[in-house]
Amino acid sequence: MKITGFEAQTLAIPEDDPLADMPEEAGRKRPVVTLRLRTDAGLEGIAVTFYGGAMTRSLRTAVEELAELTIGMDPLRIEQVNARLMAGTGDSCGPGGIFTLAASAIDIALWDIKGKALEQPLWKLLGGHRQRVPTYASGSLRRGLTDDQAQRAAATLVRKGFREMKTQMALPGTPTPADEVRRVRVVREAIGPDIKLMCDINQRWRPEQAIDIGRRVEEVGLFWLEDVTTADDYQGLARVTAALSTPIAGGEYVYGIAPFAQMIRHHSVDIPMIDICRAGGVTPWMKIAGMAEAFNLPVVSHVMPEILCHLIAACPNGLTVEYMPWMLCLYEETPAIEDGMLVLPDKPGLGLRFDEKALAAFRVG
Ligand SMILES: [Mg+2]
Repeated sequence: MKITGFEAQTLAIPEDDPLADMPEEAGRKRPVVTLRLRTDAGLEGIAVTFYGGAMTRSLRTAVEELAELTIGMDPLRIEQVNARLMAGTGDSCGPGGIFTLAASAIDIALWDIKGKALEQPLWKLLGGHRQRVPTYASGSLRRGLTDDQAQRAAATLVRKGFREMKTQMALPGTPTPADEVRRVRVVREAIGPDIKLMCDINQRWRPEQAIDIGRRVEEVGLFWLEDVTTADDYQGLARVTAALSTPIAGGEYVYGIAPFAQMIRHHSVDIPMIDICRAGGVTPWMKIAGMAEAFNLPVVSHVMPEILCHLIAACPNGLTVEYMPWMLCLYEETPAIEDGMLVLPDKPGLGLRFDEKALAAFRVG
C-alpha cells in the first residue's frame, strides 16, 4: 500500500460548552486543521491538529508540506514515515512547536489507516487493555464563572451522569488563598463527596503558592491538582509534588518524549498528562505511556476524547479520559458515555467519520 494524496483544511469551531451550557465568552472560535491522508488501496486516514492560534495558517501549511514528504511511502511503516518527516526538515525543526503539531496529524492519520487496513479498532491494535474507560467532564467549571454558576454547572454535570469532573483555581483578578479555597469547596458541596474532582491551575502559580494553597485544599479531597506551575520547571513541580498528598498531574504543555523522562526522573508529577499533538502523535504518546508504566505511574489524556479514548483504553496504566467536547461536532458519531464510562467503538481505526456538513460550515480555508 502507498500514500497517494492528502487534503488539509482550516476550520474555526465555536467555543461553546455543550456539557453544562455555561460558555465563558459567546461567539469565540477555536481554529483547527484537519487532515485526510489517502492511499492507493482506497483507505483514508483522518486527523486533527491545533494550538496554532494566530499561526493556524502556518500550521496548515506545515501539515501540507510534511504530507507531501509521505507521498509514495508505505502507510503501515509509521516509524519510517516519522523518520522521513524529521529528515525532510533537516532534523532541525523538532521536537517543539509547529513541526511536532503538524507531524502529529500525519501520525494519527497513519494509525487510522493501519486500523482500517487490519480491520481493527485502534484501542485494540495498540494493546486492547479494556473496552470501557473512565472519563471526566472538562471545560465547564472554569475559573471565570461565579461561584453560583460553577455550582449550577457542576450539578448539571452530575445530573448528566458524570462521576468525575474538573474545575479550576487561580481565579481571575487578585484572589486571596481563601478565595481559591472557597471556589473548590463550593464545587465540592454541589457534587457531594463521591464524585472525583480534579482542579487545573494552568501554570498560573509559583511553586510556593502551589504548596500553600495546595495544603489548604487537601481536605477537599481532590483527585489531582494539574499544572500547578510552569510546565518545564521540573524541579519546582517536584517540590510541590513532594509537599502535598494530593496527586499532581502535568505534561500537556511539553513537546516530544524527552521532557517526560525529566519529569519522571525528578518525580515532578504523580500523573503524567500526555497531549497527542504536542507529543507528536499516537506513536510517541504510547512510548511516553510505556515509560510511565515502567515507573509505576498512571497516565491521563488531554482533550480530543474521541481520539484519546483509544490510547487510554489500550494501555494498562491509562487512568481516565478528559472529556473535553471541543471537537465532537466534527464527526458523524463519537464514543458514547454509559454509567460514567466511555465505550470504545468496534469500528476499524479511529472509528470516526468527519461530518461533511459540519466541516463545510466551519471551513475558513
Ligand atoms: Mg490542563
